[in-house]
Amino acid sequence: MKAVIIGAGMGGMSAAIALRQIGFETAVYERVTENKPVGAAISVWSNGVKCLNYLGLEEQTARLGGIVDTMSYIDGFTGDTMCRFSMQPLIDEVGQRPYPIARAELQLMLMQAYGLDEIAFGMQMVAVEDGPEAATATFADGTTVSADVIIGADGAGSLTREYVLGGPVTRRYAGYVNFNGLVQTDDRIGPATEWTTYVGDGKRVSVMPVADNRFYFFFDVVEPQGTQYERGSAREVLRAHFGEWAPGVQVLIDTLDPATTNRVEILDLDPFYTWVKGRVAVLGDAAHNTTPDIGQGGCSAMEDAIALQWAFRDHPADVHGALLAYQQARADRAGDLVLRARKRCDVTHAKDPDTTAQWYSELRNEDGGNIIRGIVGNIMGGPVTPVI
Ligand SMILES: Cc1cc2nc3c(=O)[nH]c(=O)nc-3n(C[C@H](O)[C@H](O)[C@H](O)COP(=O)(O)OP(=O)(O)OC[C@H]3O[C@@H](n4cnc5c(N)ncnc54)[C@H](O)[C@@H]3O)c2cc1C
Repeated sequence: MKAVIIGAGMGGMSAAIALRQIGFETAVYERVTENKPVGAAISVWSNGVKCLNYLGLEEQTARLGGIVDTMSYIDGFTGDTMCRFSMQPLIDEVGQRPYPIARAELQLMLMQAYGLDEIAFGMQMVAVEDGPEAATATFADGTTVSADVIIGADGAGSLTREYVLGGPVTRRYAGYVNFNGLVQTDDRIGPATEWTTYVGDGKRVSVMPVADNRFYFFFDVVEPQGTQYERGSAREVLRAHFGEWAPGVQVLIDTLDPATTNRVEILDLDPFYTWVKGRVAVLGDAAHNTTPDIGQGGCSAMEDAIALQWAFRDHPADVHGALLAYQQARADRAGDLVLRARKRCDVTHAKDPDTTAQWYSELRNEDGGNIIRGIVGNIMGGPVTPVI
């Protein structure tokens, strides 16, 4: 069996490693010329970590992961602690610690595990087509490649998705912009082993540890889509939005490097349940594009990769049967996470201010139980975290 994977993001690389584990000949094509992911870091929740462990990357993942022992919510204006609680009950319940990881390092880990030299960089797919004996991808330089199966892990703007669905889709602006980056840990912002989140006014500022004494930070700002932004002006923009906030937030704004701070308009896509056309299938953001509000987009892509492997393991030499089994295993679960994230997004960003005010007052009475229950609900339900 030969599989061609389009896109060397975390979904594509996980799929390539997973298929190779069961003896597939694999080839990965990536349009960019080097590993330069957009975005500073991601929280790899326990389900994602279990997928990476399954792919043989347990030690490397633990080395790159930040240690989150506690979680807290802080009143953004006063700096008062609304709640603080241990993550241990979550770890005990799901059997795995989550790890925030710098994005470039996660990406490089996956690429090295597969073999950096074996990835065809600078290859932009411009067309894909199913066929009776093989599927074929065509690249911008005119090259074509055929395989038993083509996996489109080509991200949120996926061309493969367009082929599978028979036309383009319109993504939805979720109503906010996310600024993110990395800084050294600093107790004035938050404890080094805590995921600290300042909230107020439908806005959010958060820091969580990644390896080597760094915080992954992000700011959520409610702004109209298409608001003008000059790269490098993050400090001025964030001061305008958070100037009245608590001292810890001011320290973060003063410390961040505006030149490396990313600004991302957050979009998502209504769930869809057709992921396969003949020998062509979508995986990762190509199949389920979510807001980052529950930190599950990348974890879901990793789950897809494991489910894909299992589908082929259960249907050896039957591409169509395997891909349909993959779709069946994944589409509902991934769609559910998209909708959960959308719901969380609306509460966090004050789509209905009364609901958000109610959430803030709940946070003041929270002992961690409700929040952990919600996170466990996101983690459970994938291939390596079945709900029994
Ligand atoms: C601000 C933000 C925060 C996030 N935080 C989290 C988090 O905490 N936890 C989490 O799990 N997820 C998080 N996510 C989601 C996560 O980043 C994505 O779900 C994940 O990157 C999807 O991986 P992917 O491989 O499917 O797509 P991508 O990472 O987008 O990779 C797709 C790859 O395909 C390549 N490509 C595209 N088109 C072509 C083509 N035509 N030909 C060849 N190559 C092509 C691209 O260059 C790219 O390298 C966050 C997302 C955002 C925006």
